[in-house]
Amino acid sequence: MKALRILVIEDQNFQRKMIVHMLRSLGAGEVCQASNGRQALDMMQAKHALPFHIVLCDLDMPEMDGMEFIRHLAKLYPAVSAVIMSGMDYAVIASVEKMARSYGVKLLGAIEKPASLKQLEEILELHQQIETEAQRPAAALASFTLEEVLHALSENQFEPFLQPKIGMDTGSIIGAEALARWIHPEHGVIAPGAFIPLLERSGNMKGLTFMMLERAAHARRMLDENGYPLIVSVNLSLSSLADTTLADSITRVVRDAGVDPHHIILEITESAAMSSVAEALENLARLRMRGFGLSIDDYGTGYSSMQQLTRVPFTELKIDKSFVSDSANNSSLRVIVESSVDMARKLNVKSVAEGVEVMEEWDMLKDMGCDVVQGYFIAKPMGSDAFLDFCTRHIPVESAW
Ligand code: C2E
Ligand code: CA
Ligand code: CA
Repeated sequence: MKALRILVIEDQNFQRKMIVHMLRSLGAGEVCQASNGRQALDMMQAKHALPFHIVLCDLDMPEMDGMEFIRHLAKLYPAVSAVIMSGMDYAVIASVEKMARSYGVKLLGAIEKPASLKQLEEILELHQQIETEAQRPAAALASFTLEEVLHALSENQFEPFLQPKIGMDTGSIIGAEALARWIHPEHGVIAPGAFIPLLERSGNMKGLTFMMLERAAHARRMLDENGYPLIVSVNLSLSSLADTTLADSITRVVRDAGVDPHHIILEITESAAMSSVAEALENLARLRMRGFGLSIDDYGTGYSSMQQLTRVPFTELKIDKSFVSDSANNSSLRVIVESSVDMARKLNVKSVAEGVEVMEEWDMLKDMGCDVVQGYFIAKPMGSDAFLDFCTRHIPVESAW
């Protein structure tokens, strides 16, 4: 457990000492004590005072009672977690709990006195759990409404993060996949799981698709100007392909950014049965003729992968990370990956493995003759400035090991 700084506020000496003792026996780090709210605040506000992680507070105390202390705590130290302790009956504790939450205190809970070792242990565990969750990317916690996402689109809050694609023959960076990130003014960087399904379901993908295309094309130009003429991949959901004007609009956006379509790959995901088959094929044939690379994304998970292969004039087969990750240890995954690589070779298209996380997978894919790899083993997706920096520092993987 992380060393925690805890403050126990309780006017009854015996009770306070017991709690301090129990917290220490649970390995809590530093445990301080105060006999009322006033004294506690003085301690917290003292010069050079280190911040507390958790404050346990009695309610009925002389000078400054627990309710008043909680009000100050909410205002002065909103990041500190609080626990209410009381011998009062349940209804009183419940109403103070409600009050504390209304003031905006990070309340871990309330415990009835006398506190038991088990209760204290649970409180510490809960604190740990909440802290761990807070460190996860915001995307995992925050959920948004369609309205918020559309507003963010109108405010241009989305940008492509780039993840390098490495050529197996040389070990150098040959391209990057542009993955949508919402740079939320409050929550920071949000992953696509929190907004793409909303946009897909409501038929609003077009705005994001074009914003991503335009920005990814600009990133490609910036990289080229810095001496890295890479191929940039952009994701395109099959549902957008029903509109037969799409190929022309895509070509226009890319050319307007000063980029030749030969330097862009469109990764197409089949997430549902293709309904407008003819329109999609018309778009894809036209995009291919204009020079765009076409990739079958998430190969193996799609609705009817085999059928797609014969229809689409694609240039790349991208093996989904659900097969690649852990394939070095799992023989059935390995068979799927290997036969996908073989199939790509027979069809004369490039094989790309995504989700490569460890060296063993890299080695295995190299033995199989996979052309391109992408995954956390090389790098996570990053903003375009960081990506440029990554390019300048990258040592071809083969020579690095
Ligand atoms: P995808 O196209 O299959 O993209 C690969 C996903 O795997 C990305 O997740 C990437 O960050 C993640 N990834 C890369 N390497 C590793 C690895 O080694 N291990 C693991 N566990 N994951 C890895 P992300 O960025 O969250 O994107 C999720 C999906 O959202 C994408 O899956 C794609 O289908 C969709 N998406 C993202 N941006 C766009 C976009 O601009 N347009 C459309 N239509 N879809 C997008
Ligand atoms: Ca993709
Ligand atoms: Ca995938």
